[in-house]
Amino acid sequence: MLARTHDLAAVTALGVVYLGHPIETMTLATAIVAVFANLIGGITPDIDQPTAPFWRNLPVGKYFGRIFDTLTGGHRFLTHSLLGLVLFGYLAHLLLLFLQPIMHNVDIGIVWWAFIIGMISHLVMDSLTKEGVPWLLPIPIKFGFPPLKRLRITTGKARETFGVFPLLLVFNAWLYYVNYHKILDILHRHLV
Ligand SMILES: [Zn+2]
Repeated sequence: MLARTHDLAAVTALGVVYLGHPIETMTLATAIVAVFANLIGGITPDIDQPTAPFWRNLPVGKYFGRIFDTLTGGHRFLTHSLLGLVLFGYLAHLLLLFLQPIMHNVDIGIVWWAFIIGMISHLVMDSLTKEGVPWLLPIPIKFGFPPLKRLRITTGKARETFGVFPLLLVFNAWLYYVNYHKILDILHRHLV
């Protein structure tokens, strides 16, 4: 999947989870950092690609990208598995603990969950592509949905650009439309 599809999928998943279980203690600072962490989580698995946007935006990222690619076993390997999710979840936890002293008003527990939701959304979205995802590493089998490879989509091709991406947009529009009053209520109670 393309980075923009992953970004959209990550915020969609975050929206679904949040609107399903609004958090009473949410502050504006936490909400902003959580959305940011969610977007990072949404593209984190692709740091195993030397051409990933994550690396492209760093001055010498290309070289780090190649090193990381080799370390994680190539594209769609460790970072695209439940094992990778646990590993990155732990690293994110350590990073958030380190940053907590400069983020007093931020609930790092919520931010951590937002990151994890972004990462899971990435694995789910990649499972819809022909390549599939090795969810159960070290068992080296790539899983995909639907199970029949022929029915899955190819990254960057028409079915992603004109199918998956617009569908996610429409789903978001519907999600925020049906939850309009709930959102207004949340904004009034917690963010104003
Ligand atoms: Zn990926």
